[in-house]
Amino acid sequence: MKRGRFAPTPSGQLHLGNARTALLAWLDMRSQGGQMVLRMEDIDKPRSRPELAAQIMDDLRWLGLDWDEGPDVAGPYVPYVQSGREELYEDAFARLLADGRLYPCYCSRAELLSMASAPHGIASEGPVYPGTCRSLSAAERERRAAAKKPSYRFAMPAHGFHYNDAVCGRQYAPPGAGGDFVVRRADGIIGYQLAVVVDDAAMGITDVLRGHDLLDSTPRQLALYEALGLPAPRFAHVPLVLAADGERLAKRHGSAFSLAALRAAGTAPERVVGALAFLCGLIDKLQPVPARELTAGFTLALVPREPVRLTNEIARFLIS
Ligand code: GLU
Repeated sequence: MKRGRFAPTPSGQLHLGNARTALLAWLDMRSQGGQMVLRMEDIDKPRSRPELAAQIMDDLRWLGLDWDEGPDVAGPYVPYVQSGREELYEDAFARLLADGRLYPCYCSRAELLSMASAPHGIASEGPVYPGTCRSLSAAERERRAAAKKPSYRFAMPAHGFHYNDAVCGRQYAPPGAGGDFVVRRADGIIGYQLAVVVDDAAMGITDVLRGHDLLDSTPRQLALYEALGLPAPRFAHVPLVLAADGERLAKRHGSAFSLAALRAAGTAPERVVGALAFLCGLIDKLQPVPARELTAGFTLALVPREPVRLTNEIARFLIS
């Protein structure tokens, strides 16, 4: 049985980009008789707000999407909220630590920032870490530990990763792609990469569909699946949604393109779904359509690889 998920972070309102991702993940499952899971990724508690989680669920339902398991629908893998799953992450963390896959990192924020200008490249989570603390001697670690609580980084393996993305096609990440990444911050918060892998594996997720901005997280996650001895899901990274000005849809556009704003403006959900479906090549004509009518004939092959743009025509359609 195929199992997909939508895993929003409740630190902001859903905008059209997130809604598009949710719609495609839902269609991918519903068109194949698969199950859909909704998981709230509120592991970064200082940034997450329960009222936003409630609003996200309300917005998704309003769009006509549903889920078989989620924060409000009990299932075999409760809870479906990351803040309630910390023990699982700590177990995985302890295993990786015991297996020698992690190392403490004492670099300060200032040091990390200065690395941003060094020629190691930038990954979606920030500058690529050059491995400064990877080979500290035991004595050096002890000396640094007296002054600072460390974060813990996962040491990327010496081999690269080949995988097939259901939208982007064949991918190859060379050895160390993205650099060694943080699995536990100095304040104790478990990093996104580890939490998402532990959860997707524990919840039996077979198909991970998410935004293209997370494509470069995939080798990191594949490395974690490998280190934890877990089977990796199939990945599908759907194109970024750009605003009409060609900029990435962001907070700046958020107020106009949040579902809350569209709802407040009286836009019907079928209109939002129609606009998203048109944007992703699922329908040829810009017209209102209920989500459930898109399941017949849905295939990820229809979804373009290139970023898609919320043209003025689509914007007008949404608020007319
Ligand atoms: N929680 C992540 C986000 O909102 C998505 C995680 C994922 O789909 O892997 O960006």
